Amino acid sequence: MEFDHILIRYGEMALKGKNIKQFINQLQQNVQQKVKDFPNVKVKRTQGRMFVLLNGNEPEPIMEKCKKIFGIQSLSLAIKVDNEVEKVKEAALYALKQEESVNTFKVSVKRINKDFPVRSQEMNQVLGGHLLSKTEGITVDVHNPDVEVKVEIRKEATYITSGVTRGLGGLPVGTSGKSLLLLSGGIDSPVAGFLAMKRGVEIEAIHFHSPPYTSERAKQKVLDLAKQLTKFGKSIKVHIVPFTKLQQEIFREMPDAYAMTIMRRMMFRISEEVCKKEGILSLTTGENLGQVASQTMDSMHTINEVTNYPIIRPLVTMDKQEVINISHDIGTYETSILPYEDCCTIFVPKSPKTKPKRDKVNYYESTYDFSPSIQEALEGIETTKITDKTLDSFSDLL
Ligand code: ATP
Ligand code: MG
Repeated sequence: MEFDHILIRYGEMALKGKNIKQFINQLQQNVQQKVKDFPNVKVKRTQGRMFVLLNGNEPEPIMEKCKKIFGIQSLSLAIKVDNEVEKVKEAALYALKQEESVNTFKVSVKRINKDFPVRSQEMNQVLGGHLLSKTEGITVDVHNPDVEVKVEIRKEATYITSGVTRGLGGLPVGTSGKSLLLLSGGIDSPVAGFLAMKRGVEIEAIHFHSPPYTSERAKQKVLDLAKQLTKFGKSIKVHIVPFTKLQQEIFREMPDAYAMTIMRRMMFRISEEVCKKEGILSLTTGENLGQVASQTMDSMHTINEVTNYPIIRPLVTMDKQEVINISHDIGTYETSILPYEDCCTIFVPKSPKTKPKRDKVNYYESTYDFSPSIQEALEGIETTKITDKTLDSFSDLL
């Protein structure tokens, strides 16, 4: 006997009406996509639950994949047996024994199939008694057990689980449209992308690259970060914008104190154009209120003027440490802190305005025609599709 299924629980209760169907279909598709390389693994649904049929595959690597799928509340390894009391007893004992350092347990039977002859309460006692008689030093605790052996008696079979692993929660990627993530290579923007994905948003990424001031490695670092984000969703298109000429023009033609603000406005303008081309309806950034000169309230107000696309800023109210913690959890931190400079760290005004005003910036921008360079940047965009199979450039280079 062994665990032959992964049971997936999703937070269906939070959703209403037609959304539920879309949510579940998308979740099933996403799970299928993540497990497709394991031979014979199937994803099935029964009322309110989803199952991954392991069909002889080791559970752990599949469990690892499933733990990174948004929309899952919790997961358990499960055994499926026929609806026969003796078989259920045997499976419940197996499930209990798989858990380590157990002093207390509880059995919870759900009889969804009312044709099953033994009622839930009675079944609880039958199974509890069986487990007590076949183990030593373990007792029942119905309030706060170390392990809850859960038994779901369904029409087609009975499923037995013991351990529970928490999922990431959120909504399945693909249920909330697409957003264009401004991905810098720093710590913040990959975390912002992760959190947008958590709300069901599928992302594409845009990166502003300024060779030769920024190196090829800085670009590869961004591709690696995108690759790390694919673990939590689908493949990601990364648009690399050649930004050097525009950036040089800004720093040459505009007052130094306003260059940063104007550069950010250019990023948003170009990003919006990419959105239009790709049919994307929002931007996502790693901006955080009050971190640096470009992220004061005045600054956001002035930078935001150039687009009326919604901007998702998942980090806006977070402390830096919270962001760092998430970046550790999702595995982007080590890449983010690699020392390759991005365009914003190279072109830094000596004393940027912390309270840039819209009218001033509009006036300065009106004194120079940036449109040919914006056009050139747009035409020079290179797009790469990153999938979970794309090789990490750093592991190759190091
Ligand atoms: P991060 O850690 O994401 O780089 P940050 O704290 O360094 O953020 P800023 O440099 O002010 O903050 O950038 C704010 C946001 O602007 C970033 O989170 C990112 O979304 C976007 N951004 C900055 N530089 C770039 C770039 N070169 N390409 C794409 N987006 C960028
Ligand atoms: Mg940065």
